[in-house]
Amino acid sequence: MPPQNIHVIVRIRPLNAQEKKSKKIKRAIKVVRTGVDDRDLDLSPNRVPGAGGLVQVELPNDVRLPTVNSTKKSNGKIDKTYKQYHPAVAFPPSSTQQEVFHSSNLPSLINHSMNGYRTTFFAYGQTGAGKTFTVLGEDKKPGLLFRAVNYLFKSTKLKSENEKMKFTIRLSAIELYNEQCFDLLTTGHARMKPLQVREHNKQGYYVDRLTGIRCINVNQCIHTIKGAVRQRTVGGHQMNARSSRSHLMITLYVDGTYLASTGASTFGRITIVDLAGSERLKDTRSGNVKESGFINKSLYTLGKVINGIAKNGGTLLPGTTRRHNQNIPFRESVLTKLLVQSLGGENMCAMCACVSPGNHVTGETVRTLGFAMMVKGI
Ligand code: ADP
Ligand code: MG
Repeated sequence: MPPQNIHVIVRIRPLNAQEKKSKKIKRAIKVVRTGVDDRDLDLSPNRVPGAGGLVQVELPNDVRLPTVNSTKKSNGKIDKTYKQYHPAVAFPPSSTQQEVFHSSNLPSLINHSMNGYRTTFFAYGQTGAGKTFTVLGEDKKPGLLFRAVNYLFKSTKLKSENEKMKFTIRLSAIELYNEQCFDLLTTGHARMKPLQVREHNKQGYYVDRLTGIRCINVNQCIHTIKGAVRQRTVGGHQMNARSSRSHLMITLYVDGTYLASTGASTFGRITIVDLAGSERLKDTRSGNVKESGFINKSLYTLGKVINGIAKNGGTLLPGTTRRHNQNIPFRESVLTKLLVQSLGGENMCAMCACVSPGNHVTGETVRTLGFAMMVKGI
């Protein structure tokens, strides 16, 4: 069996205080099966061990989709309708950051990057669903990015000792906003100036003149990332609006050299992305039509690219070869240009679909989970 290149997980955030207080808002989604064997919540006799996660969304009564399951009342009328989704792993609201990290496949992605592959983890979902919490977290609950940094430094140390290698780790941080690329490791004027995305005939797309900072230990690396994240909210008057409409991309470049006489080298990387909110933008009162159009465009293109790769049987040929990848529109957005080489082929990718638990956003939840299942099809 070919290695599974895309790992899709779903995380449900807890109801917040306001949602708990509201009489109208009810939980609309539950984890039937986590897919993490030892924490399996599914006690039913027909449970299939090792079958992956299973989440179930209760649909509003007026929604009748062809593929939903339903329960019937004694008079034969439909009581409730559900839609089910099968991610690799599903995390209920009680899950900890460590549990999510552990089953996110990030450890495998990092191992893969040390062998010279390009890997990507991205958090997807509507604004407020928990993407930034999952990627960055809070001081006392550090997110997956910081856990990945820890794991990377530990693993490179181990591997360099075991295999007589030397690793160099570099960091870059960009914000994609309005189809423009900004360097978060610079300040002032340089921070505001968009960089060009160019294509190299062998390496694929890259950001020209992007800052790369050499990281010598975990603390320095984390400190640098935190500085970059603070830059994300600088500029633009509607800061919150901007951070929910921009994509944050942190890349750790993992260059390895074998110390033996051959001196062979590997150039891998892990990119962690906190995507813009996936909700449809209804409000164009800001007058900034360009902005709302483009944010949708990037995510929309990501969907089309993933769909295209899935239709190609999960293959995307290396070197973004024109003819073979013709029906995959990765050139249509900056986000997909930069991510395309991690999707399909030998490279590896993981996605966390973040969803809110309440029934007031069921429409967005269903869309997010639908996207996740399409990604899983790659
Ligand atoms: P997004 O980045 O998708 O817009 P956030 O990560 O900012 O969403 O989450 C919205 C709010 O919900 C934040 O206040 C965040 O702290 C909280 N939150 C999200 N996920 C969790 C979780 N798993 N546990 C506790 N609080 C969470
Ligand atoms: Mg966010």
